[in-house]
Amino acid sequence: MAPGLRSLPLTDLSEDETMFRDQVRAFALQEVRPLVRKMDEESKIPRELIDKCFALGIMGVEIPEKHGGAEATFFMSILVVEELARVDPSLAVLVDVQNTLVNNCLLKWGNEDQHTRYFPKLASSWVGAYALSEAGSGSDAFALACRATDKGDHYSLTGRKLWITNAAEAELFIVLATVDPSKGYKGITAFLVERSFPGFSVGKKEDKLGIRASSTCELILEDCRVPKANVLGALGQGYKIAIETLNEGRIGIGAQMAGLAAGALEYGLGYAKERQQFGKPIAEFQAVQFLLAELATEIEAARLLVYNAARRRDIGASFVKESAMAKLFASRMAEHVSSKVIEIYGGYGFTREYPVEKYFRDQKVGQIYEGTTNMQLLVIAKQLLGKL
Ligand SMILES: Cc1cc2nc3c(=O)[nH]c(=O)nc-3n(C[C@H](O)[C@H](O)[C@H](O)COP(=O)(O)OP(=O)(O)OC[C@H]3O[C@@H](n4cnc5c(N)ncnc54)[C@H](O)[C@@H]3O)c2cc1C
Repeated sequence: MAPGLRSLPLTDLSEDETMFRDQVRAFALQEVRPLVRKMDEESKIPRELIDKCFALGIMGVEIPEKHGGAEATFFMSILVVEELARVDPSLAVLVDVQNTLVNNCLLKWGNEDQHTRYFPKLASSWVGAYALSEAGSGSDAFALACRATDKGDHYSLTGRKLWITNAAEAELFIVLATVDPSKGYKGITAFLVERSFPGFSVGKKEDKLGIRASSTCELILEDCRVPKANVLGALGQGYKIAIETLNEGRIGIGAQMAGLAAGALEYGLGYAKERQQFGKPIAEFQAVQFLLAELATEIEAARLLVYNAARRRDIGASFVKESAMAKLFASRMAEHVSSKVIEIYGGYGFTREYPVEKYFRDQKVGQIYEGTTNMQLLVIAKQLLGKL
């Protein structure tokens, strides 16, 4: 192996990574866990908790230090998402969207002026959101209808976006719209839209099965005035920006699912040692032991896929196939693990008195957002087969 290349196992963390992970783990256990149930019931993440995330430096993991961020790696944001998701997948996705979609996209495609205007805010107090989907365009994202019209000194955006994570809290939205529908996907352009821009409003909030504390809302753009300086990347480059951002973002969803499953299994292990049947803890039955062993193995496999994709991304190696595989596998794994942990709890697991039913509800979206399971399979197949 060439000198300087890491030969460590994927899951071995550097000193910095370990420190960062441990800080987030402590924060999740001490500050987040006591609020999880209330946040789920009230469908809301309190602003004070979001402020604590900013204070901890986990809302600007990759933002350069000169703009107030931690200037750390993408892998570090993956560790943050995983740790938060063990305790609360809703807070995890808020932080995930901020780092792996919004900051990441701005870092790669934004110019110096945009970095100077927005990074200090995104590192200190502004939540961000990423708005691609619409009512009529989900998997077929580039069939979007939101229109951007050149008005000389600014663009006027008109249309609606659906399913936008963080919309209730966000101050900055990356909005994909077309400057010329006749050009198809080549007309799609990314815009930086502030919540306060005239013509912009946040509409209905979805009442969801899981990740209930995470806000998911409609965006309404009615002749929304966006300065030309807020075009992100070049005109017509939006489809490339959207695809490349989601290729990275879905590693974050893999991490969310790996963390969620690990959190569920921790409860399962604890319960199996406590619950007595036939005069002994159910953990003493080999069937239960084997189930726990299977689940732990699945989680480890998912974590390896996620870490590998993230580390490949950080060293500039290809990662499109690996990121799709990580999300595909981790989201299916989380469904299986969270379901089986409910069975370990027996009837109690089926009630809201115990924390495991929430993991089961929260995991389902992992197979839907940032590309459904079928879309991940499509990406993987394309990488395997090349152009037919
Ligand atoms: C909680 C939540 C948060 C979200 N957050 C965001 C966000 O922050 N920003 C954002 O832009 N979007 C967001 N989304 C939207 C999400 O990305 C879409 O829901 C997703 O891309 C699927 O689109 P759809 O819901 O329109 O389903 P559809 O595209 O209608 O898919 C329905 C079914 O058809 C299948 N299907 C569709 N096309 C094909 C095909 N060609 N081959 C095989 N199967 C196919 C799909 O796999 C799926 O099973 C969020 C969604 C949810 C539920």
